[in-house]
Amino acid sequence: MLGGYMGKLLFVDLSTGKMAEETPDEKLYLDFVGGYGIGARILYDRMKAGVDPLGPGNILGMITGPLTGTPAIGGARYGAVAKSPLTGGWGDANSGGHFGPALKFAGFDGVFFTGISEKPVYLFIDDGKAELRDAAHLWGKDTYFTEEALKAEHGGVAKVICIGPAGEKLSLVASIITHKGDAAARSGLGAVMGSKKLKAIVARGDRKVPIADMETANRLRREHIEDLKGSGFLERFHYYGTGGHADTSAHSGDTPVRNWGGIGVIDVPDVTGLNKDMVIANLDKRIGCWRCPAACKGSLKAGTGEYKYPAGNHRLEYETLGALGANCGNTDVESINMASHLCNAYGMDTISAGTIVAFAMECYENGIITKNDTDGIELNWGNHRALVAMVEKMVKREGFGDVLADGVKIAAGRIGRGAEKFAVHIGGQEAGMHDPKVAGHQFAGMPSAAMYWMNSTPGRHSQAFGPASFISHLNNAMGTCMIIFQWQAARGPYTQRMMTAVTGRDRPMEELLRCGERIGNMRHLFNLREGINPLKHYLHGRIIGRPPQEDGPLAGVTSDVEAEAWWHLGALDWDRITTIPSRHKLLELGLNDIAEELWPPEKMPRMGPGGPGR
Ligand code: SF4
Repeated sequence: MLGGYMGKLLFVDLSTGKMAEETPDEKLYLDFVGGYGIGARILYDRMKAGVDPLGPGNILGMITGPLTGTPAIGGARYGAVAKSPLTGGWGDANSGGHFGPALKFAGFDGVFFTGISEKPVYLFIDDGKAELRDAAHLWGKDTYFTEEALKAEHGGVAKVICIGPAGEKLSLVASIITHKGDAAARSGLGAVMGSKKLKAIVARGDRKVPIADMETANRLRREHIEDLKGSGFLERFHYYGTGGHADTSAHSGDTPVRNWGGIGVIDVPDVTGLNKDMVIANLDKRIGCWRCPAACKGSLKAGTGEYKYPAGNHRLEYETLGALGANCGNTDVESINMASHLCNAYGMDTISAGTIVAFAMECYENGIITKNDTDGIELNWGNHRALVAMVEKMVKREGFGDVLADGVKIAAGRIGRGAEKFAVHIGGQEAGMHDPKVAGHQFAGMPSAAMYWMNSTPGRHSQAFGPASFISHLNNAMGTCMIIFQWQAARGPYTQRMMTAVTGRDRPMEELLRCGERIGNMRHLFNLREGINPLKHYLHGRIIGRPPQEDGPLAGVTSDVEAEAWWHLGALDWDRITTIPSRHKLLELGLNDIAEELWPPEKMPRMGPGGPGR
């Protein structure tokens, strides 16, 4: 058996309460690694095309990777997968914290759910044994209460992921939360969990992840940490986390401003409130994911000013600062702390929440909606009280918040009156908070317009495109943190060496990257089977500068997204119109069954009189 894996997957039918353990073939692990790689293969094989994302046919999976719970730094993540109710296609999200390692210590690499439970339940996995338990006492409660209650019941060593009221009420931008603020937030997977009446998963156990060569794995960990110390990375991220540049990003053009339509230096001239020292002003202590030497997160003291959020609220991450800050014209960091707390406690994606409020503010400023629509809230740009009030209504699905709680695309349809022109999304999902028009992003592996547009989870950021995406897919599948492992592993050959030490299989980097490519294809094949061609994803013009801004650092910049996509498709050997991978590519990746499905002999070009294609 390969090291790094517990060798078991759990399948739970929530309609019948039946559970089955499976020991996957080693080939599944070798080909798809883990995380959303294994998730994509299993969902493709076991889910019918066209199922209702909120119906019993959708499969929801939580899967770790081979480096989760091992000496690999940042090996703390799990990936969540399902058909997304927000986009109607492939959906994934992932999260750090402590749950991923705990799931392995409890004996499983992953757990998959089908069906719908009659009543609210949670899954308790205790040292290799799993049972569904009644969650009536937790239904309606927020994520903080739920996690504390389950830990009180099962002991502090038990780790919990759960949904809040937003997921229970099927908000299509609902998230899955652990550790009071680590979120698997994208794709609306919290709503899938809510639709299944699955409130939480609790994992407890002290099994050891088998490591082929523990001595080498530990040595690599020490070397990697020393290497990172030399770069200054650990100190910088430990001190400020990802939120250390929200002010400069708002002025450089990196962070979208005023619903992607504003110009930071003009529309938000004073960004003092977003300064990194303001972001940590109410910090209580620095915290991190399981065994992470950077510990880039923070826990705040209770809010004592206008906004009375509770102690333990997470320090703001960059994406949250961008979405609820500059994108709403807001520089009041305490209001962002409050709105972030509401999103985490009720279980809602902060990127989507901020983008939705920005959309509503622009509708309000342009008279498309008035105080009569907004329950009396004056949604002017930068009105931080209005922002917090509207986030609270959204997470509770109250009043106008109910109109907004399913994302900007659906909200615009409900409002009508031309609101869709302010609905900034890609393929139904609100985009990450890095403007792809900023020069240098593509080089840094950050968003290019095509990466947002062509991604199987549209609007997902930090994944690069073309062959550069293979390392991102591999990283997500290995169960490691993109910040500390993928980007920083580039400083040394840690990916290949750690995979060898942990799994015991010495595979060259080219082979591991081929796994990344296979995984990228598998996610895409899921969407193709759903009838989704990413070239037809809606892409709001502001994201690509159509029309371009007239002033500021991005004046005159338009992304040539079609050219990027042309290159991306060619580099992946996907058809440039249908986006279907070539038969040759599918065979090269060992996806022979799908090659036969998509390219049966009668569809193959034939040589003969008149040449190919006749
Ligand atoms: S760098 Fe931050 S997000 Fe990544 S594993 Fe460490 S604490 Fe978690």
